[in-house]
Amino acid sequence: MFDTVIIGGIVVNADGERRADIGINDGRIAALFTPGDSPMARSFVDATGRHLLPGLVDAHAHLREPGLTHKEDFESGTRAAALGGVTTILDMPTDDPWTATAAQLSEKIAIAEGRLHVDVGFQAVISKSLEGLDELLKLAPVSLELFTADVPAEFMFDSLDAVTQTLRRLASYNTTIGISPGDQSILLGSASRDRAGDIGAFLSSRPPLAEAGGISRAVLAAAETGARVHVRQINSRLGVETWRRLRDMADVTVETTPQNLFFTAADYAAVGANLKGSPPLRDREDVQALRAALSEGLIDIMATDHAPHSAKEKAAHYAAFADIPGGMPGLQTLLPVMFKLLGERVISPSALVRMCSYAPARRFGLGSKGSLAVGCDADILFVDLNGSTVISNAEQASRATYTPFDDWRIPGKLTDVFLRGERIVSDGVLALPNRGQVVRSAD
Ligand SMILES: [Zn+2]
Repeated sequence: MFDTVIIGGIVVNADGERRADIGINDGRIAALFTPGDSPMARSFVDATGRHLLPGLVDAHAHLREPGLTHKEDFESGTRAAALGGVTTILDMPTDDPWTATAAQLSEKIAIAEGRLHVDVGFQAVISKSLEGLDELLKLAPVSLELFTADVPAEFMFDSLDAVTQTLRRLASYNTTIGISPGDQSILLGSASRDRAGDIGAFLSSRPPLAEAGGISRAVLAAAETGARVHVRQINSRLGVETWRRLRDMADVTVETTPQNLFFTAADYAAVGANLKGSPPLRDREDVQALRAALSEGLIDIMATDHAPHSAKEKAAHYAAFADIPGGMPGLQTLLPVMFKLLGERVISPSALVRMCSYAPARRFGLGSKGSLAVGCDADILFVDLNGSTVISNAEQASRATYTPFDDWRIPGKLTDVFLRGERIVSDGVLALPNRGQVVRSAD
């Protein structure tokens, strides 16, 4: 006797799709049946005509709490995620204060508990002192984040020596280290040469060369030390080519984000502040190279870099384009935008699941997530691939109150979301609030 059996759906996993019914007990998938086996259950859910996907795992989001709750908080951010089919968020440590110590992580967990609509795992930042690391890792953050440019001095590792020495210290811990690829020397050199403060100056301060240098340093330092490294958001042709050539040298993975697959720097002129983020948008040839890498399977993880700011902050006047607060929301639109890539045949449904669910769950120590398999959490998305979605600013739950994909019409529709066996979203509406939990790395 099962708590629930979902019948009639097509189960999509990273390794393919098949017709199967899903038996759920205590929030976990207890069995997968051949259709027609008619198991016993307390309740049946009809998924006829639906594709069933594992809930998405967003490996890169900024929920802005504590300290920046005018931009977002745990309630609004996880509401956006639930409505978008992201059932697990991995939250970045760049709030106020940054999450660098065990005390700061404990405080963040305490603030989050009871206010989450989906599950959330926390990332901590590596600071130069490296003090209190044992205590911090006892709280099982899903990653440690290492920054190489454009951050406060105590969190900046701006040379190959600094990155390598730090990874050497961390290699004995069984944790994934996220590295944001950048180059502080190019940032500073560019700033001294180009003081125009316009879009061109912003672009030349963070060029593809800086990204490629950051990728190569991260991979070489991982190869030298044996550390397990995840390279954050890449988006340039030079970055893709660097990644293609070096990635076999070490235990490394890489991510990109949806906005990099649709927009170019030419869009800044019309859209302006709402598209401004780091890395900057690139050129058409970069978008094409990134899309080709996606189709080839070179990109491990699709993350959002959900980084909302208030409308007031984005609309304010700034002396330089580079000074506009960087980032845009993405949690609620990740899945529909991936549907668009499906429609354009850039990726398959299984590749979608691999990049948005399976790979991020595995990489960050969440083995019970990211797969519709026996023993996994019953985090399940009901998708009508024959339906359609219109993304609109008015429906966004994020405090950013806009989306770069406003008014996009997309083939495919998310109808229902199950989190640990409970239907938290029913026909596009948040039906069961506050069911999310804090999740910890099991590595
Ligand atoms: Zn970010």
